[in-house]
Amino acid sequence: NTVGPANTELKHTVCSHCSVGCSVDAIVHNGVWVRQETAFDSPINMGAHCAKGASVREHGHGEHRLRYPMKLVDGKYQRISWDQALNEVGDKLLQLRQQAGPDSIFWIGSSKHNNEQAYLLRKFVSMWGSNNTDHQARICHSTTVAGVAQTYGYGAMTNSFNDLSHSKAVLFIGSNPSEAHPISMLHFLHAKELGAKMIVVDPRFTRTARFAHHYVRIRPGTDIAFVWGVLWHIFENGWEDKEYIAARTYGMEEVRREVAKWTPQKVSDVTGVPEAAVRQAAEMLAKNRPSSVVWCMGVTQHHVGTANVRTLSILQLALGNIGIAGGGANIYRGHDNVQGATDVGPNPDSLPGYYGLAEGAWKHFATVWGVDYEWLLSRFGSKELMEKPGTTVSRWFDGVLESNDYVDQPSNLRAVVYWGHAPNSQTRLPDMKAAMQKLDMLVVIDPYPTMTAAMHGRKDGVYLLPATTQFETQGSCTASNRSIQWRERVIQPLFECKTDHEIMYLFAKKFGFANEMCKNIKVVNNEPVIEDILREINRSCWTIGYTGCSPERLKLHMHNKHTFNPTTLRAEYGPCKGDYYGLPWPCWGTPEMKHPGTPILYDLSKPIAEGGLPFRANWGVEYKGESLLAADGSTNMDSEIDTGYPEFDHIFLKRLGWWAELTPEEQAAAEGKNWKTDLSGGIIRVAIKHGCAPFGNARARCHVWNFPDPVPVHREPLMSPRRDLVKQ
Ligand code: SF4
Repeated sequence: NTVGPANTELKHTVCSHCSVGCSVDAIVHNGVWVRQETAFDSPINMGAHCAKGASVREHGHGEHRLRYPMKLVDGKYQRISWDQALNEVGDKLLQLRQQAGPDSIFWIGSSKHNNEQAYLLRKFVSMWGSNNTDHQARICHSTTVAGVAQTYGYGAMTNSFNDLSHSKAVLFIGSNPSEAHPISMLHFLHAKELGAKMIVVDPRFTRTARFAHHYVRIRPGTDIAFVWGVLWHIFENGWEDKEYIAARTYGMEEVRREVAKWTPQKVSDVTGVPEAAVRQAAEMLAKNRPSSVVWCMGVTQHHVGTANVRTLSILQLALGNIGIAGGGANIYRGHDNVQGATDVGPNPDSLPGYYGLAEGAWKHFATVWGVDYEWLLSRFGSKELMEKPGTTVSRWFDGVLESNDYVDQPSNLRAVVYWGHAPNSQTRLPDMKAAMQKLDMLVVIDPYPTMTAAMHGRKDGVYLLPATTQFETQGSCTASNRSIQWRERVIQPLFECKTDHEIMYLFAKKFGFANEMCKNIKVVNNEPVIEDILREINRSCWTIGYTGCSPERLKLHMHNKHTFNPTTLRAEYGPCKGDYYGLPWPCWGTPEMKHPGTPILYDLSKPIAEGGLPFRANWGVEYKGESLLAADGSTNMDSEIDTGYPEFDHIFLKRLGWWAELTPEEQAAAEGKNWKTDLSGGIIRVAIKHGCAPFGNARARCHVWNFPDPVPVHREPLMSPRRDLVKQ
């Protein structure tokens, strides 16, 4: 009650609890964050927050914050100074580098880092001399990136959250936005008010399912069979968009041949869904176009995640739903900056902007960074290491435990740095814990003492370094729909916490490459200037259109968006109109930095013959002529490296004692390259016989936030007296 206009500031920031990117107005009095409000005039949240978003202030001020550096001694954490922490951790890492090479360290980055920090970490690890870096996106949507990129071109959500109110039908599969992305539901419910049909496919009757016109309970892990079943009805009844298929796609004939094998009876046997229910879903989607498909981790977190994604991507091509308002493949990411950290951040198999690791990519970045390619090469020690993908968050422990059941991983890891990541949502935690105990050192850099800090079971060799939250620094973040937004710094770093980019700089100084890392970036008080890092991203990441989102434009846009009038927003709403919050990539920079961004991907105005994009339907069905899965196995394991969800495979069959039920030929196939993909073969037969899901599992579908009913359905914007006070 003591807050008044004097010494009070209004800061614009973005909620950090999911990838919808809702705007938050933070009210800061005398440097203390005293209150938060939703941004009433944001076109995405329109005066609403969910329960998670309503508590972002607590994230900054949470009482369990890590307040100072700590070191584990005889099983107890002791407070130490930053100097001691940087020296001891730095010396140990340099010693391990000397003994075992730069690849002996694994730097796990974060989807919680802003774009600039994620980019700087990839640069930092490159200059350390390794590709051993990864982040949360490996676990959630690596399969989406691989499957969608191979079909359409870009590995990202095609439309915008608020465009979805234009849909005439929406298929939710493996996603539960009522709980996981609540504000996005406002836009679906708006579509429903306008007559859209809603279909929810999920083994559980979720909070999203309660809004459905048609709820389909599916046997866990049988998504592919279900989607092929839907397509069977679409093709059988001639409901596909023939003109679109002819004009835009190639390879649909191969899909048709494959789908023809998935008769209603077979689909029903595999999925447990009555034949009529599959047909009803097909008819609702086909007869109410544009129709949108929304998926989340219930689709991706399977060892056939890429194949799941591929079938849904193909379904949208068959219905002519890609490249138009109200259609799209709408993929909900998890953390607030999973998309951005994937686009420009710490990936083991590519440099920022998905440049890959080939010599040309390294030379491009050597030029942007202002360093010699030869110097970079010398940091790795060999060209082979420089161009070899690093390990992943879902597999590093196999290397340490020397249990490479699934894929080859480096086995010389001696230390892991968890820089804004915790393995809460991962499988095989006992293996991870065992591997943590074998390491020489474990470092956790985070605003909170995470599960990593609690689960390792070590007596020493663990350091906890306190980092700031997103609200104690500024920078850009990219929502799931590719919208890049600017976050203002709300408060100064609390306690002894340092920003992640300051910690990167201090370690780079210790390791002797701070000057190279910041050649084109000013450094103020040990903090590389965030705006300069973004300018470097603008200069380097033109592949996906990060060139036009300069800091100046993002800051301007952040303020301009408040010119939207929330009460007239819906009346004004037309295709693409009002879809803008931030600048959705691709946002091109040249020549005059005026590109408005791209809320809906893929421009259909040009025919393919004149340079328009073709979409690829047949990738993954061409190899075997047997099934999509048969071909897709190579991509599940290779394109996106791995998803970390090998639930039902040859190893699982052996563990369960069912291996002998396969014929020798099936055993050979199962152990070969395509062992996890043989839909018509032994694995599925044995799985169904024992009543199991043949691919994937149900757990992934339960990957939702466990909050009490958070859906603020159609809450009208309320003007707060406090807000008026601040605005005066
Ligand atoms: Fe935050 Fe997501 Fe809720 Fe929006 S929907 S308020 S971004 S948690």
